Amino acid sequence: MKIQMVDVKNQYLQIKEEIDKGIQDVINDTAFINGPAVKRFKINFEAYLKANTVIPCANGTDALQIAMMALGLKPGDEVIVPAFTYVATAEVIALLNLTPVMVDVDEHTFNLSLDNIKDKITSKTKAIVPVNLYGQCADLERIVEFSKAHNLYVIEDNAQAIGADFIYKNGSRIKAGLVGDIGTTSFYPSKNLGAYGDGGACYTNDAELGEKIRMVANHGQSKKYVHDIIGCNSRLDSIQAAILDVKLKYLDSYAKARIEVANFYDRAFVNVEQIETPLRANHSTHVFHQYTLKIKNGKRNELKDYLNKNGIPSMIYYPIPLYNQKAFTSKETLPITEKLCQEVLSLPIHTEMDEKQLNYISEKVLQFFN
Ligand SMILES: *Cc1c(COP(=O)(O)O)cnc(C)c1O
Repeated sequence: MKIQMVDVKNQYLQIKEEIDKGIQDVINDTAFINGPAVKRFKINFEAYLKANTVIPCANGTDALQIAMMALGLKPGDEVIVPAFTYVATAEVIALLNLTPVMVDVDEHTFNLSLDNIKDKITSKTKAIVPVNLYGQCADLERIVEFSKAHNLYVIEDNAQAIGADFIYKNGSRIKAGLVGDIGTTSFYPSKNLGAYGDGGACYTNDAELGEKIRMVANHGQSKKYVHDIIGCNSRLDSIQAAILDVKLKYLDSYAKARIEVANFYDRAFVNVEQIETPLRANHSTHVFHQYTLKIKNGKRNELKDYLNKNGIPSMIYYPIPLYNQKAFTSKETLPITEKLCQEVLSLPIHTEMDEKQLNYISEKVLQFFN
């Protein structure tokens, strides 16, 4: 029995015929850049998200950069970002000579909440970038309300929560990434909607902003050979689009498979005091990009080693607070981020897991605590 964090190979084998045909069609057309497959995926993804505009691009990091460029943020502007996230979120802020202001996250949802943000706002603050971490939305309704009142933009880094629903207080729902001004996502192969290479997208319900994003991603071009602003070159290639268009049809069933794995783990660990299982927030569905435990007895690293010795991979997302990375000049100490970096452990979760694997993994975890 080989256990992997993600099993892209077996997932491929389930849909091999469709994928192979999609790739072969692109090659037959030789429309490798901006071919019909890209347009088709864009339209189908817009319909899935119920978004006004999807702008496909080269990867999730580019998507964040393009979003910030399209909003016209200027050097020196401050952008609020969680200290507990993947580096890309803060990296592009610094790359554009904006100032990343790193803030702490909620202990139970791992996400930004309004409480983390409020006292970090200054006259230079221009945007907030909540990350919908591990597959669940941040408390976006309150963050967006606050942002509107203070003239701030909200860019949702939705690389990990594609397909999740945000649930408003009145019960209505919207796809993650559409609560703020722009949502960005990644189609990195291990993401919930993964390509067979790199890919990403920005999306928005603001048509005018959508047009600006499209221009930025395409050399600032308004018409062929007419360049109104400085942009960049960031494209989703046709082969990746063809693959994503096939996989998009399965995205909801993939989420369902992940949720079943999460439910299994939840039940298995319910009586272990030293383990905190992931909280399901009222304001969001959870698509479980990661299933992340908090190990409360200081033995997270020992558990990781123990699992590894038993052939079970696990990962620490993320081991180092962003402000402790050499790349960033911001040096502070945020208590919850510090604690989470010591406590979190993500277990294997993907669409192809079977009961035998789940029984084995949970048995070994339980054994460690006995
Ligand atoms: C994966 C990821 C990204 C970056 O996506 P790439 O496609 O690898 O550039 C950005 N933010 C978060 C939270 C991610 O998980």
